[in-house]
Amino acid sequence: KREKIDIEVSMEELEELAKAAGAQVLATAIQSRPAVDVTYFIGKGKVEEIKELCENLEANMVIFNDELSGSQIRNLEEEIGVDVIDRTALILDIFAQRASTKEGKLQVELAQLKYRMPRLIGLGRQLSQQGAGIGTRGPGEKKLETDRRHILKRIDDIESELKEVRKNREVQRGKRSKSEIPIVALVGYTNAGKSTLMNTLLKLSDHHDDTKEVYVEDMLFATLDVSLRRLSFPDKLDFILTDTVGFVSKLPHALVNAFKATLEEVKYADLLIHVIDASNEEYNLQKDTTLGVLNDLGVENKNIITVYNKIDKISDEALLPKEENCIHISAVTHKNIDVLIEKIRAEIGPDIIEVDLLIP
Ligand code: GDP
Repeated sequence: KREKIDIEVSMEELEELAKAAGAQVLATAIQSRPAVDVTYFIGKGKVEEIKELCENLEANMVIFNDELSGSQIRNLEEEIGVDVIDRTALILDIFAQRASTKEGKLQVELAQLKYRMPRLIGLGRQLSQQGAGIGTRGPGEKKLETDRRHILKRIDDIESELKEVRKNREVQRGKRSKSEIPIVALVGYTNAGKSTLMNTLLKLSDHHDDTKEVYVEDMLFATLDVSLRRLSFPDKLDFILTDTVGFVSKLPHALVNAFKATLEEVKYADLLIHVIDASNEEYNLQKDTTLGVLNDLGVENKNIITVYNKIDKISDEALLPKEENCIHISAVTHKNIDVLIEKIRAEIGPDIIEVDLLIP
């Protein structure tokens, strides 16, 4: 039973991911079978069923929730007659669309090349100019037509470019820590409301500048790359706020490194704000996923303010956990944002020492 629920949740997430990539989802299908079919991944009967479904709905792409081999993709495309991609290619496509910093772009290209390498032989329609383009977009697209050796060379080049970019980032970080402005990092699951909270805090900050608003969309992965903003509040509360890439369940292995590297920023933060979507039924699972990754990064001992967001969407706030350093807010209605700012002040703000001037 639990497994069935997990599959449903995972399929819903796949739908969200597909939408985030710009696809329109016409139908979903699930197959349970004791073993994977070597040729088609799914059973031949299911292949026929999907083919018919695609013809009836005029669909031009099938997205699989699991990782497929190059030959499985080719066989499925030949049989069904539309483009076939898997979950990894889908996530990579979203990454390619959303990456904004130099490092993020390089990391996505690297992950795309590494994903495509072993599948080169199997690539049929994926390399063609037809289809919706999902799964074949991004910085790596041009190089795809070239041969293996070319790709290997490109992987090499990217790796050295990345080293250079990282070195520069260290220098920038050095500058920042010298200026002694505390760094606060927003972490949490995708769609928890990190970008929204960042924008809300920016609006309330003295330095508000509309052109710097972070990109928000009701989609997964609205934020892939780290963005930094300087904020100022009354009584000398100054800090740099950084948004981080959102976590996602069932993240393909090939993407873990790219993902963690974008979280490096978190290591240098003075304070973490862990944003949780309190209106999501799975919020406890999402919370644990996030804390697990933070643990992997070795940042479990940092000061953390746990923020349960979207309380405007839940009927009984009293049911939410009341743990240490936790707060219930709504980034949209601004409920308790003032309390959050005071909590941030308590963690990183200057100590205000009251001096009584005793004039004799
Ligand atoms: P991120 O992926 O963590 O950056 O999440 P976003 O900031 O992009 O928010 C995801 C979605 O949740 C958007 O549609 C937001 O409008 C919505 N959202 C964020 N905060 C709140 C909130 O406090 N209340 C409600 N109702 N929706 C919210």
